[in-house]
Amino acid sequence: MEEDGEEEVEEYLFKVVIIGDSAVGKSNLLSRYARNEFNLHSKATIGVEFQTQSMDIDGKDVKAQIWDTAGQERFRAVTSAYYRGAFGALLVYDISRRSTFHSVSRWLQELNTHSDTTIAKMLVGNKCDLANIREVSVEEGKALAEAEGLFFMETSALDSTNVKTAFEIVIKEIYNNVSRKIL
Ligand code: GDP
Repeated sequence: MEEDGEEEVEEYLFKVVIIGDSAVGKSNLLSRYARNEFNLHSKATIGVEFQTQSMDIDGKDVKAQIWDTAGQERFRAVTSAYYRGAFGALLVYDISRRSTFHSVSRWLQELNTHSDTTIAKMLVGNKCDLANIREVSVEEGKALAEAEGLFFMETSALDSTNVKTAFEIVIKEIYNNVSRKIL
């Protein structure tokens, strides 16, 4: 029976985690996506933080609860609680710092240890506005993503390039994975 003509909108809530070396731009990617803000000087806030962001997919209200390590990785490995229940992950490196690209395999290993291997994963080469001091080519990023079965995108939290697209691809993939299992 319909209740007073109110339409029921199906709701989904998925957890997404952002991982990667310190200072690759994780916090800024999240603040750019969730609040359209960018901070030139990163805050050394310790403790996990998340933001919830909604998007409409096929008339459904799909909410992503996106977690940021907020500096935990500076001191030790990110705790397993951080990964618990995640349906998607963004693995971020900085295209102007090769060492952060080398770390991706370690982050991927950690992610695979603590989460379901079927979760939606994207490799994100951030700071693509710094092309003049680039240390990792687009081709290298693509090749690693292909080898590991990840989506790939270069982004800039500074000038907004691909930030929304990167998050939305991951969230849509999660939605598709979940609906396929339901059907
Ligand atoms: P996190 O430690 O991975 O969360 O990194 P932050 O988001 O705190 O960013 C670290 C530093 O990189 C800060 O000084 C940011 O202003 C800078 N940064 C973040 N994203 C970008 C970007 O896309 N382009 C440029 N040029 N700088 C960025």
